[in-house]
Amino acid sequence: MRKQTLAGLQEHVPLSSMTTMRVGGPARYFYIARNHKALERAFSFAREHRIPVFVLGGGSNVVVSDEGFPGLVVRPDIKGVQVQENGVMLRATVGAGEDWDAFVARITDKKIFSIENLSAIPGTVGAAPIQNIGAYGVEVQEFISRVEVFDAHTFQIRTLSSKECLFGYRDSIFKKPEGKNYVITRMVFEFPRRRAICAEYKDIREFIVRNNLNPETLSPKNVRDIIIKIRSRKFPDLRTIGTAGSFFKNPILPKEKFLALAHIYRGLPGYPINKEMVKVPLGWIIEHVCGKKGFSSGPVSMHDKQALVLVHRGGGRARDIKKLADEMRSDIKRQTGIDTEFEVSFVGKF
Ligand code: NAP
Repeated sequence: MRKQTLAGLQEHVPLSSMTTMRVGGPARYFYIARNHKALERAFSFAREHRIPVFVLGGGSNVVVSDEGFPGLVVRPDIKGVQVQENGVMLRATVGAGEDWDAFVARITDKKIFSIENLSAIPGTVGAAPIQNIGAYGVEVQEFISRVEVFDAHTFQIRTLSSKECLFGYRDSIFKKPEGKNYVITRMVFEFPRRRAICAEYKDIREFIVRNNLNPETLSPKNVRDIIIKIRSRKFPDLRTIGTAGSFFKNPILPKEKFLALAHIYRGLPGYPINKEMVKVPLGWIIEHVCGKKGFSSGPVSMHDKQALVLVHRGGGRARDIKKLADEMRSDIKRQTGIDTEFEVSFVGKF
């Protein structure tokens, strides 16, 4: 029997320009899915040809292997933003392929405090729940009411409640084996009107003091502008340098382990998660314990303004990135005993 073909399917498509790290080889097959039917066609094609599928969003959190991906790369590009408002809240239904920061700008214009602290995070709306993006004390899970997914096993559309998404710190069902079949297609957000400004983080407080601002009179738009300024000073510019933002997750340690480390490494910051666990900024450890802030290994470095960020200055390969990342992990483990997890995903063979 003749195998089916797929209209719009591309072959041997370079992936490096589709990721913010700007490394990696080609996709054997590449397909843009603009609706559920197209997703169905893509997954049937992969099933029939017995090839693996990788779902690529904005490419801001992945490192693609130098050999590329031997199967089908699908980019879901489902668009559309519908906003409904009432006296209590604002509800937005958004296609997974919409740009995250453009969506943040649109909501910020509604003059309610909500996701303005999540400004200037690259990627698509559909990628936001995967690692439950968070910044400056706000996590996206707070506003997610429902997530619509395409189940690549059953080919059914399912709607998951926020609870079913199993959100955690930079974590969700979509990163676990039980959620690996889900392709996020649409999101429903709910933004309560009466929410206060969230300006506790040091960088925001310092910005407010330095610029003689009154936190009482700041609007969501003002906060968004502040966040954009802070981030542009601290994080590399995606237009000029390869990066995937924070490369590692900040570890959450048992309190005793944190206290033992803080005894050795004076000044180690720690933020209690609950009575037993403390979140530790890994960037501080890379800088002050490992002494690797700004450290370069060929074309890749730990960023000189925020050591948690790995940057690719050009001309490098995925294996250079993996090598430096593995060295950092071993160094951190040797000096502190901490097992670190990658925040980014590695795609293809490493
Ligand atoms: P930062 O503000 O220097 O903070 C470093 C670490 O300390 C983070 O783990 C942060 O927790 C924690 N922290 C700082 N102040 C805290 C407070 N008042 N209460 C509780 N925890 C506190 O971080 P940065 O590197 O400049 O990044 C700025 C923000 O953007 C951070 O919130 C960071 O997590 C976020 N970010 C998120 C992503 C992502 O979602 N992929 C990527 C890059 C940066 P949290 O991580 O819980 O905030």
